[in-house]
Formats: sequence, structure tokens, C-alpha cells
Amino acid sequence: MSESRNLKIVGRSTSPGLVIGPAFVYHDRPDKLSPPRAIGRNQVEEELSDIERAVRIVRGDLKISAQRIEAQTGPKLAAIFDAHEEMLQDPSLRREIRDEVEGTLIDASQALARVFLRWEEKFRATGEEILKDRADDLIDLQGRLLREIAGVKTTALEKMPPGRVLVASRLFPSDTVALPRRGVLGIILEFGGPGSHAALLARALGIPTVALIPNATERIADAQEVIVDAFAGEVILSPDAATRSQYEESIRMAQEESLQARHLSMEPVRTTDGKEVAVMANVGCGEDITVAVENGADGIGLYRIEQFYLARNTPPSVAELLTELRGALAPFHGKMITIRLLDLGADKPVPFVQFPSEDDPFLGRRGVRLLLQYPDLLDVQLKALLELAREHDVHILVPMVTLAGDMERVRRRLREIADAAGISRLPPLGAMIETPAAALCVAELIPHSDFFSIGTNDLTQFTMAAGRENPLVNDYFLEDHPAVLRLVRIVLDEAGQTPVSVCGELAADLKSIPSLLKLGLRSLSVAPPLAPAVKEAIRRASSG
Ligand code: PEP
Ligand code: MG
Repeated sequence: MSESRNLKIVGRSTSPGLVIGPAFVYHDRPDKLSPPRAIGRNQVEEELSDIERAVRIVRGDLKISAQRIEAQTGPKLAAIFDAHEEMLQDPSLRREIRDEVEGTLIDASQALARVFLRWEEKFRATGEEILKDRADDLIDLQGRLLREIAGVKTTALEKMPPGRVLVASRLFPSDTVALPRRGVLGIILEFGGPGSHAALLARALGIPTVALIPNATERIADAQEVIVDAFAGEVILSPDAATRSQYEESIRMAQEESLQARHLSMEPVRTTDGKEVAVMANVGCGEDITVAVENGADGIGLYRIEQFYLARNTPPSVAELLTELRGALAPFHGKMITIRLLDLGADKPVPFVQFPSEDDPFLGRRGVRLLLQYPDLLDVQLKALLELAREHDVHILVPMVTLAGDMERVRRRLREIADAAGISRLPPLGAMIETPAAALCVAELIPHSDFFSIGTNDLTQFTMAAGRENPLVNDYFLEDHPAVLRLVRIVLDEAGQTPVSVCGELAADLKSIPSLLKLGLRSLSVAPPLAPAVKEAIRRASSG
């Protein structure tokens, strides 16, 4: 399995950094099932007890995940694992598995696979997105159970020992939730572009990641030593002593630089020709905010509030949302805080909205399109944010804007709610520029927008016609492609006096920063661990 010493494989960096460590190879899908094995009637109980044992172990795994996530992000995300556990306990599922073993006299794995397949098809056939998601959950669960039954000792992700480099084919959003956040040294993936959830998470956690390493899970053995050079976008397998010490020296230097950059990042930053640039943080949970403070972020440029909604069975009330935000934002009192309205859609469903299924959810009813059709959802957020604006410098950001009418309608509603509450001064309301239409016609948005924030992740996927999560078109998802930069330029040129920021991942792309500054950009919002390096890059660049 393992290849010769010092083998260098070039991939693509999706989160910068440099580490050396032993690999932890994660196989996310079960191996192919062996052919069905007929059993005698006297073996039925034995097969069923295999299934029961697997269920017990998997439930234990799910509990570990839930506890870990609860400690890291609070109780809400942990509910995903409770839901998985509930599924496992469903008496009709258990009964069907028993009937399958007894009725067809086949082995436990086959019976389980057949029943899960039927359930999966049943869920998918409803066409309801939320049930389709449950179908994906079933695949996950089935994989776990089958591995346990087969005695395959691929350790589940949540049991990954600390201090390892995770090697996986790709990471699904549910995998990233299970990742032990602090203990992962680095990540090597076969797939996963820079706009994928996995890349965003790795950057938010500051984990060096190199993607697009073909067959990594087969070429790298568990515990094999690997170097993840996510500055250069390459990995080196089994380094010899000389290579190792050369990289150890580079790591030492990088650590020194990063310590210095962190120290300096507490100060405001200027370009070599004296232009001040704000470096804000993209945050999504309480832990991100702590890291943002530690890394000297000048404010919050993008607060993704989806996590308050995902994994809840009912939408939060105004008071609940307000309490959550108040608690989370306390460390940023006195600084600019940009909170994005909920960016949900068929790709990110919540249990309390029955989304009709859509063939192309990314091109469907997402963000503001959805909010305008669920006014109660919108009103709760606007009310909570108006209240919060009494205490904080709140800016409200509207996701997935395409038409001027999107902004006009949100503003009208904000005004009505403010009037009813006797609030005369509205907090600034801004548009995310993440569709080519919004970028090309930014002038039409000016009358309804107090600021703009360019979301280059979605802007890239729509401009390059390459899905963020689609590993097959990673080569086309180029956030610094001239087509994307040209749209950024148009926005900066045509926004007039309306302030513009970039909050997509392009803002943290160190090699693109000089050109962004030359285009006139003076505000960037990045994953919190990257703020010091971004400030350092600005300090070395000129705006002219
Ligand atoms: C973007 O699209 O660039 C963005 C910042 O939003 P998200 O990644 O949450 O879609
Ligand atoms: Mg977006």
C-alpha cells in the first residue's frame, strides 16, 4: 500500500499551513458487501445478535459525537446525532430487519443492507428534501453498522486519535461535524474544492489541508508519516531524515512568523502606501468568535447564523435568537458586526420548513428568495436584529440577492417592523453580491443598500458553472479566475460611495490580496485563524 520514501504528490491547498505527522486513514464508505450467505433457521438468533451488537456500538459512537459537538458548539448541533440514534431505535426498522433475516434466511449484513435500501428508496421517493436528507443519514448509519458487523477495524472519524493527519476521500458536512476539532494536525483529501464545506471548516479551524490527491486513501497507510505542505499544495509521503529536518525547519520558521503576525494583528493594518484596511472575521459559532478575538479581527464581516436554526425542531423565537446572539457577540462590543440573514434552501433544510424538492437547489429558492416566501422566518430575524442594534453596531446582510426588488422588499419590511417598535434609525442593510446578476447590475442595488459584501464562494460557482461541493468539477472552481476578478472589479468600480467588502474565501487568498487592494478593496472578511496572515500580506502590499 505505501509507496517509496519522499514521494511528493501535488494537489491543491484549501487551507494554508505546514505539518508533519502520522496518517489516520478514514474510509467513509463500507467496502463492497460479500455475496449473500444463506443461513439455517438455527442461526437466525446468532445473526440477529450480531446486528444488536453493532447497533449498541454504533449508538455508543453517536453518543461520543454528540458529547464532543455539544462541548464545542453547544447543544444544538448535537441534536443531529440524537436524531441518528433515534433512527436506530425505530421499532419498525428493527422489526423489518428481524423479519428479513427470519423470512429470507440470509446473513445479518445482507438483511440490513436490503432493509436500509428499501427505507432509503422510500425516503427519496417522497421528493421531500428533508426526507432525502434522512436518506443520506441512513447511508451513514448503514455504513457504520455494516463495518461493525464485518469487524472492519476502520476507526470511525469521531474516534480519531489526536495528533494525526486525516486522510479521507472527501468530507461530507456530517463528517466535518464529527471531526475532533482540536486534535487534527492536517487533512489530505482525494476530492474537495476550496469552496466546499470541508474547506471552509478546515480554514475556520486553521487546519492545513491539501485536496485533490488522487487515491490518497489507498496510497497512504494508517500511521505512515506524511508531510502536509498546504502552503505549496503538496504532500510528501514517508520523508527521509534529510527531508524531514528540512521541513521541520520550515515549520519552525512558519510558527515564528505566525506568532509575530498574531502579535502584530492586534494593531490596525495599513498598506505600504498608508491605506487602512479592515480585516474582519467570518464566524459561525461561539468558538469562532473567541478565535476571532485572539487573532485580532477588527470586527465581524460575516456572521452565519444557520447553526442556530439547523438541528432545531422549531424555529427560534425573537427572544431566543436575541439571547443567542447577545451571548455570542459580547466580546465584539463596540466593533462592527455584520449578521447575515438566514441562508437556507433546499441544500440546507431545516426540520420546521417543508421545502418542496428542487432539482438544482443551488439555483433554487435559497437565501432571500426563501425568506421572502416565509415572512415569519424573516420577521423574527429582523425583530431580533433591530433589538440587538440598540446595543451593538449591527449591520444586516441579505444573502443570495439577484434583483433590486429583493433588497427593496427586505428594506420595506425592516422599516415596517422598526416603525411598529418605535425605532427611527435603521441599522445599515447590505446586499451579498454572490450572483453574477447582482455583480453586473450592482448600480441597481445601490438605492436599497447601505453596503455590499461580495460572496466569492457562490459567485465563483455561478460564474464558473462549477458546483462548490461537486468534486468532479473542482478544476473549474477557480475563485481567482479572471472572470471572477472582473466581476469583483465591476462591483468596486460601480458601487460609488457604497462601501464594499469581500467575505468569500478569496479574501484570504494571500496571493490575490495585492490585486484586490489595487482594485480598491479596503475591507476583507476571513476565517478567524487566517486574520494575522492576511494582515501581514496587506502590510507588504501597496494599494496603487
Ligand atoms: C459566499 O458565498 O462567498 C459566502 C461567503 O457565503 P457562504 O459561503 O456561506 O455561501
Ligand atoms: Mg454564499
